[in-house]
Amino acid sequence: MILVHDFGINLNMYAYKGMENDFPSLNVCPSCHSMNDLHRHGFYWRYGITEEITEKIPICRLQCPACKMTFSILPDFLIPYYQHTLHTVLDQTETAITREKGPGLRQLVAFYKRRFLKHLQWLHSFFIDQGMPVTFQCENKNATKYLTMIRDFGESTFFRRSKGHLSSYFMASPV
Ligand SMILES: [Zn+2]
Repeated sequence: MILVHDFGINLNMYAYKGMENDFPSLNVCPSCHSMNDLHRHGFYWRYGITEEITEKIPICRLQCPACKMTFSILPDFLIPYYQHTLHTVLDQTETAITREKGPGLRQLVAFYKRRFLKHLQWLHSFFIDQGMPVTFQCENKNATKYLTMIRDFGESTFFRRSKGHLSSYFMASPV
């Protein structure tokens, strides 16, 4: 299970600190809810990529001593299973949406656009759930307005808070 955590730092600083990051400890299992200190269960390494840098960073794993479920503590500037950071995915999605049709849209960026457009309804209902007035129709032509709302919300705050909305998360495979 992936838990998204606010380390309060960006990719550069997280990569610099590496295994010395301030990893959270948990004393209640998010899965079985037993009151136990979750054990450190090693690290795995993954990429974090922006327009400027590529970093290989450690992701801390915890394990519940009761149910044995393992949890990955993902920093909130990353989306599960995306190598690009949340910020870069948003930027590239915006580029893809606002650009005139034409050749040369890289496959990955085109994929971000398609995935984002599939999330409009999900985004719409999330913002309404948050008590935020959405004054426009949920249509593709309004896609950039949702990007603006995400940025106004704060990208990482949005990502953490929306995780679990309708049992999904931003940019997850089809909602
Ligand atoms: Zn457990």
